[in-house]
Amino acid sequence: MQLTSLADLLELQEIDLQIDRLLDQRQSLPELDAYKSAHEEAKRKDKEREMLASELRKLELDLDKAEGELEILENKLEEHETRLFGGGMSGRETEHMRLEVQSLKGQRGAMEERVLGMLEEIDPARAAVQAIEAEIGEINARKAELESSIKDQWKSIDAELARKEERKKAALEPIDAELLELYEKLRGIKEGVAVASYDHGVCGGCHMALSPAEQEEAFAADLPRCVHCRRILVA
Ligand SMILES: [Zn+2]
Repeated sequence: MQLTSLADLLELQEIDLQIDRLLDQRQSLPELDAYKSAHEEAKRKDKEREMLASELRKLELDLDKAEGELEILENKLEEHETRLFGGGMSGRETEHMRLEVQSLKGQRGAMEERVLGMLEEIDPARAAVQAIEAEIGEINARKAELESSIKDQWKSIDAELARKEERKKAALEPIDAELLELYEKLRGIKEGVAVASYDHGVCGGCHMALSPAEQEEAFAADLPRCVHCRRILVA
């Protein structure tokens, strides 16, 4: 094995590790977590908003109905009073009409109270819907900000990645196909580090020392490999 080829391999390893770091950085931006939790929060708030809005709709329908009933009562009362004050009825009829008017007034009073009670309920229900809509608006604005920050960072990481990939292409050229195959296999099982520098009797991959005998054995082979971790050693 040519030493130049091994040095090339070490350079390839360096570029690959830089690419690995960029890919890792790309998928572990803190903004991604923040975006995800903002998205979940928006979903939760939207469900809550739907519930509050449907409660409000029900209150509004009930109020409409009660106001309609109140109007009917008022019309009926007016009609009866007109007849009562118009006179021309017998004493019994007049007494009957008087009692009827009294009863209608009672019903109107009760209905007015109901309507007032409903109006008192509707105001906070409307306020609750508005408040949650404002919250959702804020969350969505935060999401949009995070999204644009993520996209900006990805753009610069991707540009950097493209530069590294170009360098990698050049670095791959001088490397023997069989060696490259071993390199890729080792990278897959050795946390991305297939090649280690050998310095002062220590493997740069597993950081374990090789005894003089182990060193001799390792470097006697065509392709020196660490006796401990089996990574390719470049002295
Ligand atoms: Zn090692």
